[in-house]
Amino acid sequence: MQVSAQRIQANIEKLVSFQTRLTLSAQDPDSIKAGHGIGAAREWIKGEFERYSQDCGGCLAVKTDSFTETPADRIPQATVITNVYAVLKGTDPENAKRMVLVTGHYDSRNSDTFDASGAAPGANDDGSGTAVSLECARVLSQLKFPATIVFLTVAGEEQGLNGSNHFAKMARQQGWDIEAALNNDIVGGDRNPQQDPSVVRVFSEGVPLAANGAELRLIRNLGGENDSTSRQLARYIAEVGRTYLPGVKPLLVFRLDRYLRGGDHISFNEQGFAAVRFTEYREDYHHQHQNVRTENGIEYGDQLKFVDFDYVAKVARLNAATLASLAAAPAPPAKVRLQTKELENSSTLTWDAGSADFSYEILWRDTGSPEWEHVQTLGSVTRGTLPLSKDNVIFAVRAVDHQGHRSLAVVPQPER
Ligand SMILES: [Zn+2]
Repeated sequence: MQVSAQRIQANIEKLVSFQTRLTLSAQDPDSIKAGHGIGAAREWIKGEFERYSQDCGGCLAVKTDSFTETPADRIPQATVITNVYAVLKGTDPENAKRMVLVTGHYDSRNSDTFDASGAAPGANDDGSGTAVSLECARVLSQLKFPATIVFLTVAGEEQGLNGSNHFAKMARQQGWDIEAALNNDIVGGDRNPQQDPSVVRVFSEGVPLAANGAELRLIRNLGGENDSTSRQLARYIAEVGRTYLPGVKPLLVFRLDRYLRGGDHISFNEQGFAAVRFTEYREDYHHQHQNVRTENGIEYGDQLKFVDFDYVAKVARLNAATLASLAAAPAPPAKVRLQTKELENSSTLTWDAGSADFSYEILWRDTGSPEWEHVQTLGSVTRGTLPLSKDNVIFAVRAVDHQGHRSLAVVPQPER
């Protein structure tokens, strides 16, 4: 896969050239023409997606999701917010309904969330994530996949996740089947002495934000707090990292986000979609949400020179490999059940047959283990029994096609 650190560098440099991408900054035609403000950034991103589409015979549908946000805490007056995205439609009519998505936020900020004209380079936060989304679109649009891939860039993140919130709600209302959302926010690999450029953190929710009362009761009863669909996605990413060796190792963090902080994956989680956040190993807070300046010998501001473009490229490779694996894989098995009618020391799992002649794998692990430890490969069946007590392990089932593409793992519901 031809992810290019040079391309990523050029794209982040371009994003920084707009001087500020604050959601409240200029978006009038003159400012767009002058290459200043969020409007200019938006038009440039759209143009890039369109250029990638020309290079693949029009394979991408380039779209905007634009709305007027009413005044709120960090939005002093009604403000037009525009998400820009490109859709690589799946080639298989049945699987094309399934979607996987990558996103970053193209808005930026400095010390003052209301400073609409001061410099806010946002090279790392989140020029890096925007560049990951663009580079995944450029590279993956050269290939074909049975399922659909969406390359998204959102605005309004720094004002309160406004863009992603609107997009995720729209996706839910329109019944989109988003199997996975990958949010890249601060993946620049800030060049500080304590940085570990061989690691990228992957945050995932434990108890789902969207779980209702009955679902929460089941999670409590069964010890399901470590098995949300977002966490299965995180485990999938860890496996992709081991298989494709993108040059950066995913470190799974079993937490919604950094301590008391947030990001756009939360908007997707709130609508019930599996979503995770990628962030560099060690953030430098002098370089985030700060006016560009030097004080007492310390350099502040989210400047280009702190970004490690090779690192961003490695994170982009991990994202692209994850999107490609999922978009090539079968749908996750449906109606996965663990039989509980009898008290017995073996365990029987059942599931619905998929749309093709897939094989299935039963996975299991100790309840205290972070990742799947064992796998039992079965043929094209819809039922499997293992001589293991359901009380002692956690099970899941995944589908495998003839080329070995594996779906996300699904944890069973009890069947009484
Ligand atoms: Zn951010």
